[in-house]
Amino acid sequence: MQDVVFRRKVLDVVAATQLRMCVQCSRCVDNCPVAIEVGDDKYNPRKLIMESFLGMKSFIFGQPAPAEGFPENFNLWGCTVCDKCDEQCPNNIPLTEVFYILKNISTELGQAPEFYYTQAKTIAENGKAIPIMDAIKRRRSSMGLAEELPAVNMNEINTILEATELKKVLK
Ligand code: SF4
Ligand code: SF4
Repeated sequence: MQDVVFRRKVLDVVAATQLRMCVQCSRCVDNCPVAIEVGDDKYNPRKLIMESFLGMKSFIFGQPAPAEGFPENFNLWGCTVCDKCDEQCPNNIPLTEVFYILKNISTELGQAPEFYYTQAKTIAENGKAIPIMDAIKRRRSSMGLAEELPAVNMNEINTILEATELKKVLK
């Protein structure tokens, strides 16, 4: 079923005229390293573009693992954002830009891979993706670097978290 609000969300960012130019040629699929590796039945950028253009939200989000050993929502999160599809599309469709929008929605829905939330929480709490630990201090010291790093300005971090609405997602 078509979800008009979702369709608008995608088309507001990526011009509808641009997505309409997708001729379903599959060149993005043929050049996608992920689709080549796992098979286009498990990961397929052409299909994602078509579903986004048509606003088929229920086809994109909350998808089960495509096969044993694969995570849920692999149809979306399988993309490594290597940009090869963007470079190969004959009609210059910004596929990865669309996938960013989809991944943001997926994150808001609580369907992103768990490590995204864990990593974001670590940054929200420490201002760093990897908090400084004794082992890191020792390694820095062995390289002649100062053990301590300058303090992180948590006000700036919080401003970014609020502005990007990530804080809301983490709650
Ligand atoms: S390469 Fe471009 S035009 Fe062809 S299917 Fe992919 S997105 Fe559509
Ligand atoms: S950006 Fe994603 S969809 Fe595009 S080629 Fe790379 S892995 Fe495939």
